[in-house]
Amino acid sequence: MILRTVADLRAQVAEWKAAGQVVGVVPTMGALHDGHLSLARRARRECGRVITTIFVNPKQFNNPEDLLKYPRTEENDAALLATVGVDAIFAPAVEEVYPAGFVTSVSVGGVSAPLEGALRPGHFDGVATVVTKLFGMTQADRGYFGQKDWQQLQVVRQLVRDLNLKVEIVGCETVRDPDGLAMSSRNQRLSGQARAKAPALYAAMLGAARQFRDGVPLAQVLDRARAAVLAEGFDAVEYIELVDGETMLPARDLGAPMRMLAAAWIDDVRLIDNIAV
Ligand code: AMP
Repeated sequence: MILRTVADLRAQVAEWKAAGQVVGVVPTMGALHDGHLSLARRARRECGRVITTIFVNPKQFNNPEDLLKYPRTEENDAALLATVGVDAIFAPAVEEVYPAGFVTSVSVGGVSAPLEGALRPGHFDGVATVVTKLFGMTQADRGYFGQKDWQQLQVVRQLVRDLNLKVEIVGCETVRDPDGLAMSSRNQRLSGQARAKAPALYAAMLGAARQFRDGVPLAQVLDRARAAVLAEGFDAVEYIELVDGETMLPARDLGAPMRMLAAAWIDDVRLIDNIAV
């Protein structure tokens, strides 16, 4: 069942809730791959009813060309979701989500500021705004998000805490191709050659984490990792950093759970990844 309007979505969810069912939502921008499907499968196991949303949210694109080039494959997405057995796909038009006169923006402080927030101005405001709206539209009890977008997951958790939203956030493991590359809709845009080199980002992060645990000073570890990624054929490294996994502040306290996050360009495609350290 593909729903296009908030009214139809609301009517369907009201029916499910009246029957006492727990509703899970998996927000996506479509061009689905096994990473997305792992979220949908988990929601399927844990919730009575599952909605997957497919909406390429213009507000979270700071780069107009990226928005234009973003893959759109709805028919194929619907076929993949059918194999998981989701109950509904909510795929609204842009005007349904942002009708004329829409003027509100949700801005999460703190965790939104560094890394992706610093390099993609407005990106997390766009994410926070659309996620707040999707929770409002779906009235979901649980929201499923991937650790692939680690900082986004922390932004969503902060948002839910700060605004007392009645939704439980479930963070799901990153799904990777066999060679280690984190699955991403943007991987489709890589040439064969670039695709072959792309796993170097994850490999460099694993190497860096190992060196850090072995006692090599952090600055040196990160410098080596950036150099390795470039040497392996990436065109630019925006960042490879080690941060507190919850606050996104620079890692200081060795006791806190830390996360290494990276963003790098290859073949005009911006890839991000992260690992536990
Ligand atoms: P997107 O369509 O890129 O906005 O992603 C929708 C959701 O799927 C987000 O919560 C992502 O973190 C998650 N996701 C994307 N890629 C992966 C992956 N490789 N493994 C796990 N989750 C993912």
